[in-house]
Amino acid sequence: MSRYISIMQCRTCQRDYPYSHEFFHRYTDRKGRKKLHTRCKVCAIKIAADWYLANKKRVSEWGRRYNIEHREARQRYQRKWVLKNPDYEVRDGIRRWQRANPEKVRQQRKRGFQARRARMVGAAGKLTSSDLRAIYTMQSGRCFYCLTTLGNHYHVDHKVPLCRGGSNAPTNICCACASCNLTKGKMTEVEFRERRHGS
Ligand SMILES: [Zn+2]
Ligand SMILES: [Zn+2]
Repeated sequence: MSRYISIMQCRTCQRDYPYSHEFFHRYTDRKGRKKLHTRCKVCAIKIAADWYLANKKRVSEWGRRYNIEHREARQRYQRKWVLKNPDYEVRDGIRRWQRANPEKVRQQRKRGFQARRARMVGAAGKLTSSDLRAIYTMQSGRCFYCLTTLGNHYHVDHKVPLCRGGSNAPTNICCACASCNLTKGKMTEVEFRERRHGS
């Protein structure tokens, strides 16, 4: 059985294409009849893209005006949506996860703080939160210097401080109690140990 396929010439590029919705966009005319455009998809897409590039400003202005004019409607819609989808409160979801994983949250915060500081000093090396967890476990949850039990409130110490050219790599990181970390200040690990044993 053979199927008859008619050919249609695009009115823009004059190329012949099979007259089907694969090559021509569909539309519904005023009387509700399904029809195909007389411009091929390739040309239609190109024209739309060119028009968009030439009218970018106008398009974003439309979007801005639409958002202002429909602000109340959008807020109403959002409130209704939230009521209809009580399980899908994004912020709630994050808070629930944070409550369930306090240790991870602490480590993420610490890592973020360390990374920011390291960026400022331009130090090499990258510390991930799993690195930090591994270091903490390796030290059996005790201070690297005085071996006191750390619990949840510990400091992340750079053995060679960033300001003395130390890196942010895991080998240069240890977990320390607040007292050791603050006393150590800008000393290196070696200097700090010498001073502790010397005094
Ligand atoms: Zn064409
Ligand atoms: Zn300590």
